[in-house]
Amino acid sequence: MDKKELINSGKVKSVYNSTDDDKVIIEFRDDMTAGDGARKEVMANKGAYNAIISAKIFKVLEENGVETQFIELLEPNVMLAKKLEMIPIEVIVRNIATGSLVRKYPIADGTRLEPPIVQMDFKDDDYHDPMLNDSLIKALGIATQEEIEILTEKALKINEVLVKFFADAGIILVDFKVEFGKDMGGNILLGDEISPDGCRLWDSETLDMLDKELFRKGKDSEVMDAYVEVYNRIIPDSEKVI
Ligand code: 5GP
Repeated sequence: MDKKELINSGKVKSVYNSTDDDKVIIEFRDDMTAGDGARKEVMANKGAYNAIISAKIFKVLEENGVETQFIELLEPNVMLAKKLEMIPIEVIVRNIATGSLVRKYPIADGTRLEPPIVQMDFKDDDYHDPMLNDSLIKALGIATQEEIEILTEKALKINEVLVKFFADAGIILVDFKVEFGKDMGGNILLGDEISPDGCRLWDSETLDMLDKELFRKGKDSEVMDAYVEVYNRIIPDSEKVI
């Protein structure tokens, strides 16, 4: 499968058309960004760690009935995926209150959220990803009511599967962001990536952070060790390619 023209260059990934019309090639770069891209550093092998972690998680989700765009890894940091028309919504699921939730609302940091909160943000850096509600989503023409319900249901299913998957690796899934898109037949599939870039992951024993929050807090020298720790815990030795 060969790469054709670049169709989207995001903050950390580049998406290319492929020789097959309904497939894209996604290159996970070594860039790490924070603050809507205001701060950017290059971290060796970060793209490969995230691509391999995402591929593993997408496979686990597929085994549990969640359809994703993932097809296969072509190289450690290059993924072949079904082509989707992405929906510009960041669907966030929260199991424990922290981050922007406790900055914006009177909920104590660390509060367990039962049931989990499902939040939808408008994916647009120029507007700083503002939070949406159903009427806003419909007014913006981003999704229908039926699609909002599908996104919510899929996000909760992903949460249920991944809470258990990470718990088995000694990790608490605090919260995460996912993105969805439509395939050529109009089906809504999980797209983008699920990696320590878009999840809060805490060690179950020590509650140490194992995700991009370290970079957001300026602990640049610790962040890759955390990504490698997640990789080592969830990727069996037989599947390790770096
Ligand atoms: P918060 O809204 O508390 O900052 O983030 C909630 C969760 O969603 C965290 O796991 C965070 O990593 C993820 N998240 C929210 N917005 C973004 C974003 O624009 N990019 C990435 N990579 N993750 C995000």
